[in-house]
Amino acid sequence: MAASASGSAHTPLLAKLALLLLLAALIVAVAPQRAEAYNLLGCKYTTKNLTFRMAVNVGTGYPTAITEAVYDWSGNTDVNFTGTSGTPNLQITVSNYGNTGWYGRISSGGCSRGLWTYQHAQLNNTLLGGKTTQNKRGTAAHEVGHALGLAHNDSGSACSSYKLMNSFGDLQHACNIYATRTDDRNGVNALY
Ligand SMILES: [Zn+2]
Repeated sequence: MAASASGSAHTPLLAKLALLLLLAALIVAVAPQRAEAYNLLGCKYTTKNLTFRMAVNVGTGYPTAITEAVYDWSGNTDVNFTGTSGTPNLQITVSNYGNTGWYGRISSGGCSRGLWTYQHAQLNNTLLGGKTTQNKRGTAAHEVGHALGLAHNDSGSACSSYKLMNSFGDLQHACNIYATRTDDRNGVNALY
């Protein structure tokens, strides 16, 4: 009887431990969803005060699209962009790069100890040329996000919840996502 009582006495304790472990597991499992969803490239600019310069070699609508894209980040986050005719921190070039499979991309100027001073964003008019000015702005803003240090974030389940840093250009265009969203801004503000 004593052994039985002792045995049954262990059960509630084990049950409590199991419950605590389960709760701990649930907290761990839930935490990532509560945290910020943005993802980082692992490199960013050395300063939040940045210069940009654009070279629009082809196409129409790009100067407006690019300017609005850059000033979206500048006006809604802690980074500041000003135009320059000299060597910029961010060069944005529009050219016919061909059927490359990408609307836009950045080519790094190199990352040293988590920091870079120059990025080149390339917008591909071959594929973007037939798109709306807002689509061009969206692609430009997306590439600026990369230059600032943001990686892709494909979370969301509807046009209203997808991020500017979504990796699917066609989806971004179809949903007409052309401006920074809260998560995108939070990511940049965490970096600078
Ligand atoms: Zn991208």
